[in-house]
Amino acid sequence: MTRRRKIYEGKAKILYEGPEPGTIVQYFKDDATAGNGAKKGTITGKGVLNNRISEYLMLQLSEINIPTHFIRRLNMREQLVKSVEIIPLEIVVRNVAAGSIVKRLGLDEGKKLPRPIVEYYLKNDELNDPLVLEDHITTFNWATLQEMDEIVSYTLRINDFLRGLFAGIGIRLIDFKLEYGRLWKDDEFHIVLADEISPDNCRFWDMASGEKLDKDRFRRDLGKVEEAYQEIARRLKIIPEKKFEVIESSNPEHME
Ligand code: 5GP
Repeated sequence: MTRRRKIYEGKAKILYEGPEPGTIVQYFKDDATAGNGAKKGTITGKGVLNNRISEYLMLQLSEINIPTHFIRRLNMREQLVKSVEIIPLEIVVRNVAAGSIVKRLGLDEGKKLPRPIVEYYLKNDELNDPLVLEDHITTFNWATLQEMDEIVSYTLRINDFLRGLFAGIGIRLIDFKLEYGRLWKDDEFHIVLADEISPDNCRFWDMASGEKLDKDRFRRDLGKVEEAYQEIARRLKIIPEKKFEVIESSNPEHME
C-alpha cells in the first residue's frame, strides 16, 4: 500500500501529492453536493465515470492544442495531473439559458442564447461563488488582462469543440464550468486548463427528448442520477452498451 500526503479535499475530489515533483494525484469521489454544500449525497460510481469522462475530454482537447493539466489516468478513480497554481475563478460558458442565469435575468429555461456567454465567478464558498467582472479580477490581481484574454479565447474554442463533439452523440451542451491554472516552467508560466470536465460541471440535455443527463438530476431530485452519468459515458463509448458495474477496491489510499 502506498501512503501519500493529502494536499486538499474538496466536495468531489481529493488531491494527493504525486509520485514525481510537480505532479498531483486527483482522486474522484462519489460524493455529490449542491447549493454550495446545502444538499449532500452519494452518486454510486460517479467518481469512476467522471475520471474516465474527464480523461477522454481532456485528451480530445489536447488534440486541438488546448494545454491541460492532465498527464494520465492511474486507475479507476485516480488520474495524474500537473501541479498548477489555480486561478481562483470559475469560468462558465452558456449556450442555452438554464440554472442561475434563468433566475438572475428571468429568462425561460431552454432559450437558446444568441451567442455563447462567458461569465466569471470568484471561487469562494463563504461568499457563495459570486459573479464578478473583469474589472474586479484585474483590480484584485486574481488574474491579469492578458491571462483573461487567453482564458476567454481557450474557453470559446473549448465550447465550439465540445458542442460539436456532444452534438455528434445526440447531446446538447447547455453550459459548463471550467477552471484554469498557471503552470510554472523555468521562471515563466503559461495558462492551462485544470480541474475536470464531467456531468458534475456541465449541463447535458438529450437532443431528442430534452432529458437532463447531468448533475441537475441530483440537484433537482429528478431520479435516475447514476443512469444519467452512465448514459454520457456510454454515448462517448467509454463504457460498453451493457449494464455498467463498479468493481474496485474501496480504499482511496490504495493505488493500482
Ligand atoms: P449555474 O451558474 O447555472 O448554476 O451553473 C452553470 C454551469 O456551471 C453548470 O453546468 C454547472 O454545473 C457549472 N457550475 C457552476 N458552479 C459550479 C460549481 O461550483 N461546481 C460545479 N461542479 N459546477 C459548477
